[in-house]
Amino acid sequence: MSNQRPAAVAAQEIAKQALPSNRAHFRALFEDSGIGIGISDLDGRIIDVNDALAGMLGTRVSELLGHNLHEVMCPPRAPEIASLHAELIRGERDQYRVEQPHFRKRGTVLWTNVTVSLIRDEAGEPQYQLTVVEDVTQQHLLHERLRYQATHDPLTGLGNRTLFFKQLAEAIEGPSSCTRIGLCYIDLDGFKAVNDSLGHEAGDRLLTVVTERFSRCLANPHQRIARMGGDEFVALVFEPAGMAEVLELAQRCHGALATPIPIDGNELFVTASIGVLECATSAMTAAELVQAAHITLCLAKARGGNCWAVYDAETNARQITRFSLATRLPAALEDGEFFLDYQPLVSLGDGRLEGVEALIRWHHPHHGILSPDQFIALAEETGLIVPIGRWVLEQSCRQIRDWQLTFPDSAPKVNVNLSVRQARSPGLVNDVVRILKETDVDPASLCLELTESALLETDDRALTTLHELASIGISLTLDDFGTGYSNFSYLRRLPVHGLKIDRSFVVGLQDPDRPDPTDEKIVAGLVSLAHALGATVTVEGVETVVQAERLRALGCDTAQGWYFAKPSAPESISEILARGGRAR
Ligand code: C2E
Ligand code: CA
Ligand code: CA
Repeated sequence: MSNQRPAAVAAQEIAKQALPSNRAHFRALFEDSGIGIGISDLDGRIIDVNDALAGMLGTRVSELLGHNLHEVMCPPRAPEIASLHAELIRGERDQYRVEQPHFRKRGTVLWTNVTVSLIRDEAGEPQYQLTVVEDVTQQHLLHERLRYQATHDPLTGLGNRTLFFKQLAEAIEGPSSCTRIGLCYIDLDGFKAVNDSLGHEAGDRLLTVVTERFSRCLANPHQRIARMGGDEFVALVFEPAGMAEVLELAQRCHGALATPIPIDGNELFVTASIGVLECATSAMTAAELVQAAHITLCLAKARGGNCWAVYDAETNARQITRFSLATRLPAALEDGEFFLDYQPLVSLGDGRLEGVEALIRWHHPHHGILSPDQFIALAEETGLIVPIGRWVLEQSCRQIRDWQLTFPDSAPKVNVNLSVRQARSPGLVNDVVRILKETDVDPASLCLELTESALLETDDRALTTLHELASIGISLTLDDFGTGYSNFSYLRRLPVHGLKIDRSFVVGLQDPDRPDPTDEKIVAGLVSLAHALGATVTVEGVETVVQAERLRALGCDTAQGWYFAKPSAPESISEILARGGRAR
């Protein structure tokens, strides 16, 4: 510091005033510090710098003096830093801090944390700037590495789920957002089998090759691919030139797997299913877009895989409802969202209540009350019908018991619908026996309804089950009769106590002037068939007095339908019982 100019001395004096402890201490701090320190005048001309700062900048102290510090450190200055700096010089702020790169002559980059402070004179007027520079290159690189690791898949090097969602959100909402977006949700078919049979290492190698092939399918910088996890990938197209571009990308990715992949001496054939979507970014949120693309992918899978499916709003809405019901269904039972309505079965002879049919309803927290047609098939597919059906049996038996206690002489039998899957489930007979015992209900008070079409699907086990149920005194009724194609000789071998003629045959008997002669003949035929088998006949869907009269004349025993009563809460059945058992 031999060639110090008077101003530098003055600046040091100022600095010393700020740190009045002792001069030697301050000097040592300045000179030996690992932190770069520079003092410059308000124009930026360097008055003094320490060795640390000169070292960071790859030069010597003497070469810096007199130059403009900020120009030396970061020539093209970002506008926001320039305005911070201007405020400082005007005395409107005392300090600002920025992180900035310094590109050294050797081509390396120095990342720095720079704090610029204003030093004022005794009158409080801005006098000098004190620049403190910290080398944070290591931290910066570490931070960059961590950020990379958090957003990239280590196996394939592709962007991961996190990065994908970030890019998608930016494309939808960011400052330079797109108006349209394209997505290809890709899932490999049968990848699990590769993993299971050849091991995870082979699976990993396969994914690496697949990634290389998919990456080669990207045609321009607007197309990206990410790995969502496992064997799922998503290709994103920012601002696609219509559906054609997205579909082409999907087809290329699909075609990229046409040639086998050599792994460990094996030639592996993998295929992919792809859900393809192209839409306005204003149409959906990021989460909805991904869900829609995923649902479309599931449709491709459902078509047997190895193909692509294109998003369609209507199908999507239907699938979402299905999907949301399916996900909610398991908890619905625990949360007590199901309840039973009961519909009277009325004797056509004397109009008295003979029994009731228990009909399940689901009080869904978002969709309101759902009818069984909206969820029973779903429950069948997922197997949840077994516990749900068990609950219906328990609830019905408790209700029977209630009525028997209140109306010992006129309590109705209760018909409970049984699905095929329940009939096939090994525990059914035990469940029924246990429930009857626990609720103290006589088996003769319970009737199980199985649809005719369900009966056609029954196997030997289900048949044995039906016989066992009949042998303990439970009656069985064939529901929706006339819609399946029962083999009558088969019917003879079944322990059937009743047939319920399907509503479709009753519709034709509605016209007051002229009943449909064919329907009349069919009903008459079914009645004589049932009676020949020793079974009673119930007709469903009786909505008018005309129908009720004709059906009685045709020999039907019992009727069910809106003409007599709609399905309703057990209390309304209690009211009927209380007024003597007449439904109308
Ligand atoms: P299902 O066993 O044939 O039940 C009769 C259906 O016809 C009921 O519909 C009932 O509300 C309706 N219905 C009754 N009278 C009339 C009428 O006069 N006109 C018309 N148009 N319809 C009438 P719901 O309650 O929607 O039940 C639909 C189906 O869901 C049932 O058909 C049954 O197959 C099934 N289901 C209901 N509860 C259960 C259950 O607990 N377990 C199983 N596995 N299936 C059930
Ligand atoms: Ca039924
Ligand atoms: Ca029916």
